[in-house]
Amino acid sequence: MKELWNPRIRGLEAYVPGEQPKDRRYIKLNTNENPYPPSPKALEAMREAVCADLRLYPDPECGQLIEALSRRFGLAREQLFVGNGSDEVLAMAFAAFFDPAGLPIIFADISYSFYPVYAAFYGVPTAPVPLREDFSLPVEDFLRPNGGVILCNPNAPTAMALPLAEVERIVAGNPGSVVLVDEAYVDFGGESAVGLIDKYPNLLVVRTTSKSYSLAGLRVGWAMGNEDLIAALNTVKNSFNSYTLDRVALAGAAAAIEDRDYFEECCRRVIATRERSRRELEALGFRVLPSAANFLFAAPPQPDAETVFRRLREEGVLVRYFKKPRIDGFLRISVGTDEEMDGLLAALGRI
Ligand code: PMP
Repeated sequence: MKELWNPRIRGLEAYVPGEQPKDRRYIKLNTNENPYPPSPKALEAMREAVCADLRLYPDPECGQLIEALSRRFGLAREQLFVGNGSDEVLAMAFAAFFDPAGLPIIFADISYSFYPVYAAFYGVPTAPVPLREDFSLPVEDFLRPNGGVILCNPNAPTAMALPLAEVERIVAGNPGSVVLVDEAYVDFGGESAVGLIDKYPNLLVVRTTSKSYSLAGLRVGWAMGNEDLIAALNTVKNSFNSYTLDRVALAGAAAAIEDRDYFEECCRRVIATRERSRRELEALGFRVLPSAANFLFAAPPQPDAETVFRRLREEGVLVRYFKKPRIDGFLRISVGTDEEMDGLLAALGRI
């Protein structure tokens, strides 16, 4: 059946996102979405954008959103790039910075599982660095020769954060490589590397509106870095699709970024619920890794994690389970509302 496929594509194993089931109502704690709605100002801006002029193409330079990010982070427009979710920004960064004929790129062996998928797609060699037994990151192993570095901070799915000083050691120790820091979860307790951008021309920080801005359905992500790195990303984008963001997404994301009070209140609530849930899971005998994200990585005492995952599903609670070496004893549990977490804890009690 694949004889019409490009042979390069035939061999690929694509990323599998967490499920979005429609068969019944679930307590949905499996894809790290925010349990709270987007900013009312963002919703209003999107309504206006729908009624404005969808007949016309959107701004290919995404000026409105770039301006909002520029004000929010104190960066020049030339230091900002936006895309259709941070996954697209990551995909474009792979194309822009990582060389199939170069040295292997390095990232943690336990990290966001899209990185090896992009590497295979672009034919970029990889040399995954094993995390330590306690899932902490061995910084010295990120200081050897490489074709690029990816740090997910806080890491997924472990939820553990790397202190900024350690991130800086890796960025400073790799002047000849792009160090991409994926900060999808940083707003829930990590230390951002954004403040290092003017100091290190090899640093690219990638963010998303999917988690802390409650806009996973809108598909908006962005990158921040030296203007030469941003120019490379624009070259990739404009060789691929001039209009990666539509008018509604541009308006909604810009308004969400500007509504700082609402954003901070949502993050505060998620963090408070996370800490309470962590204590309660520990009281049930779970081993819970320290989390700086909007999810918990937790190992049940018994039965095994895969069984707990299945039985939770039967109980109407979705979490994520990765059948992979070293982490197959854990469940990744997104932080929901307090009521949703009560539902999870009650189901676990029954199991
Ligand atoms: N980075 C990490 C670490 C993630 O977990 C995710 C969400 N799956 C993404 C990037 C992509 O997020 P989005 O494309 O929704 O911005």
